[in-house]
Amino acid sequence: MDEIDEWADYGLDTRSVRAGQKRTNEGENAEPIFVTSSFTFSDAAQAAARFAEEEDGNIYSRFTNPTVRTFEERLAAMEGGERGIGTSSGMAAILTLCLGTLRAGDHVVSSRSIFGSTRMLFNKFLTRFGIEFTYVSPTDIDQWQDAVRGDTKMLFVETPANPLTEITDLAAIVELARQRGLMSVVDNCFSTPVSQRPLEHGVDVVIHSATKYLDGQGRCVGGAIIGSERLLGEDVYGVLRNGGTTMSPFNAWVFLKGLETLGIRMQAVSERAQQVAQWLAGQPGVERVYYPGLPDHPQYTLGRRQQSLSGGIVSFEVQGGRRAAWRLIDATRFISITANLGDTKTTITHPATTTHGKWTPEERAEAGIGDGLVRVSVGLENVEDIIDDLRLNEI
Ligand SMILES: *Cc1c(COP(=O)(O)O)cnc(C)c1O
Repeated sequence: MDEIDEWADYGLDTRSVRAGQKRTNEGENAEPIFVTSSFTFSDAAQAAARFAEEEDGNIYSRFTNPTVRTFEERLAAMEGGERGIGTSSGMAAILTLCLGTLRAGDHVVSSRSIFGSTRMLFNKFLTRFGIEFTYVSPTDIDQWQDAVRGDTKMLFVETPANPLTEITDLAAIVELARQRGLMSVVDNCFSTPVSQRPLEHGVDVVIHSATKYLDGQGRCVGGAIIGSERLLGEDVYGVLRNGGTTMSPFNAWVFLKGLETLGIRMQAVSERAQQVAQWLAGQPGVERVYYPGLPDHPQYTLGRRQQSLSGGIVSFEVQGGRRAAWRLIDATRFISITANLGDTKTTITHPATTTHGKWTPEERAEAGIGDGLVRVSVGLENVEDIIDDLRLNEI
């Protein structure tokens, strides 16, 4: 079985373990890593046919590589997409998609609650090529409607968003995109296909930072784009092939192994994060907890509708601003102080001075990222130990 369609009848866990694998004549059980930059041809005529795209097959690992293809097909089968493209990072996925689908004079409406580097890429670099961006609230669909112009081409969403876990209504985004003939894009990093499959809601393209939950053990940087062959097959793939935003085969193999345990990991981190969030909500030094699994989350009902899990990211605002937030972070014993997330190791960060440190104070204020905000990516340690490590001694 090698076609993505053939996996449609299987459950998600089965796809995560099995989809995309094509055994070689050696009969290996685990997927091999094809560490080769180029591929040989049987004769000059075959080389010519491959370059002329008259014959399918590998040429060079910047274009295609069997280990990378296995990852692409497996993730595409999990997201329910026709085509997957592996990239060198999550940011490379966003860059490759934008270069492949937008041109000078195009306009993008984006949620203002997006990953820090995504916003930098949009504002500092893509604007140089004549692409314009308007930022709107992730939760107020009227703002999206009002921001759409005649030259708008793309709607860009991250849900749940980093770091405050705001949830955008995918059905409403899809409806707006269809009405106005726009491409809808969802960064599905926080949910993963285990919890949310935007393509099933009618979204056009899903973006991943494979660095996070898909790897799941904090080892490699990578990304992916998933969507229809029509949208991705020509220009988006063309940017990868000619621009070289390619995933390495070794990293693809690590991500394949990560995908095989994604279902049970997402379940386990969601259970632990729920307990951490509930505990934090009862702490006197905590002003506010942001977690989609808490009934007082502003989009709690929407979250129940479009996600099957609440995820592993818990953010909270402590009393006392930056000083108190840093004190809490510094008082942890085993939790890793790092901006990465989606690891088996619980990680902690202060968004205002790390991931969102390059935003202007106005941008941060508008996005609700306060100086007392702390973001925790709950891992797989015993939850009692995680809670103990976060205990707010003096705060
Ligand atoms: C990390 C991240 C990215 C960027 O991915 P890299 O692999 O670091 O390039 C994009 N979006 C979200 C939501 C992320 O968390």
